[in-house]
Amino acid sequence: MSNEEEVWSLVEGKRDRFFALSDRIWETPELNYEEYRSSAEQVAMLKSQGFRVSVGLAGLPTAVMGEAGTQGPVIAILGEFDALPGLSQQAGIAEKRPVRDGANGHACGHNLLGSGSLMAATAVKDYLERHGLEGRIRYYGCPAEEGGSAKGFMVRAGVFDDVDIAISWHPAAFAGVNNPISLACNEILFRFTGRASHAASTPHLGRSALDAVELMNVGVNYLREHMPSSARVHYAVTDTGGSAPNVVQAKAAVRYLVRARDLPELQALVARVEKVAAGAALMTETSVEREVLSGDANLIANPPLEALMFQHLQRLGPPAFDAEDRAFAANIQSTLSAEDITASAARFGLKPKKGVALCDVIFPLGSGDGTLVGSTDVGTVSWVVPTVQMRGATYAIGTPGHSWQLVAQGKAPAAHKGMEHAAKVMASTAVDLILRPELIEAAKADHRERLAETPFVNPIPDGVQPPLPEKSRG
Ligand SMILES: [Zn+2]
Repeated sequence: MSNEEEVWSLVEGKRDRFFALSDRIWETPELNYEEYRSSAEQVAMLKSQGFRVSVGLAGLPTAVMGEAGTQGPVIAILGEFDALPGLSQQAGIAEKRPVRDGANGHACGHNLLGSGSLMAATAVKDYLERHGLEGRIRYYGCPAEEGGSAKGFMVRAGVFDDVDIAISWHPAAFAGVNNPISLACNEILFRFTGRASHAASTPHLGRSALDAVELMNVGVNYLREHMPSSARVHYAVTDTGGSAPNVVQAKAAVRYLVRARDLPELQALVARVEKVAAGAALMTETSVEREVLSGDANLIANPPLEALMFQHLQRLGPPAFDAEDRAFAANIQSTLSAEDITASAARFGLKPKKGVALCDVIFPLGSGDGTLVGSTDVGTVSWVVPTVQMRGATYAIGTPGHSWQLVAQGKAPAAHKGMEHAAKVMASTAVDLILRPELIEAAKADHRERLAETPFVNPIPDGVQPPLPEKSRG
């Protein structure tokens, strides 16, 4: 039996426990920084598997870490377990039917993400023990990926400083190694302050903060023509200053999400958006304050690690779905548009095949045109540790992210198979890195070269605190 096959059979031996863990987390959908029960589930599993466990990393009560081994290289496998608001949905059916109206739901598959990563780390631990190998394997249970940028706060606190290589995955429609493209982003709140006044009798005495917000948004919309085409800017007016039109609004606020291809481009674009805010304040004789809420760096590529993980994935082949899995996926597809299905495949440089509702291929390295991208806090980790991620096929081709259809598939046998498949690839990649230290050196050399070109600046400045529930921002 080859090393890979041995690690893969260790993963297989853990099926029941880890599928059940994923299902329990699916049944306990918790939001950003409030994942107390999901985090406790991870702690219990880590302890039962013999890991040394730390909780509350970086001052985040739900961040956990389990470690095994005392010497040798440190390989980290990253997991997540947060859910999304308003996406409650029953499992195993192809129609929209919430478990509870308005409740949370696992619409990004993070129940699988955390459980699959922990499953991989446990198999690596068993392999190292069985063969008496030197190497430290860690599982990082990272909270608040959905807009909470927890990994950025964890990077700032130094929790990855002694990690040699980080490995992760994300549930998806197709299996393959990520084209490492994601956008760097900053979320910034702009608060305008003016002067209230009676809007009819003394309008000339009022200075409207709401006018400033509107002018800022108009200004940014004109800026779009002159931004790099990969950049994205979104906003939400979070405070209109009240609902009475006969009072000049003395306070108003708008929350901006600015995204750019990399950190230097982000810094330049944020500076321009701030100028527009200052201009709006000048025009309206109001004042403006800005508060950075969070940020993610873009992902840094690591071709040596990507090639390595891809080899393991190719050796394993695509997940083995059966006729029942395909039938349920086809039912889900019947609720989607043709555009959903085409876009889902195009994202990985593929064309949808008629009658094929679940992934039956591995998408090639570097595929996809890189246009359908968001941001991830794994990006920030990738600047401090050479990082590699794969996509694991767990749901029907065309399933939109953050949709009820994704929640409905979260406990399906296909989801479990896709999770086990990803756990195998992550585990054998980790073992290979420990057995062949020259692979770690090659990954580090590539990482050093990239950082020499562009030094890392954490998009979460010092002093910014994570939005923990105790001190909610209102
Ligand atoms: Zn996600």
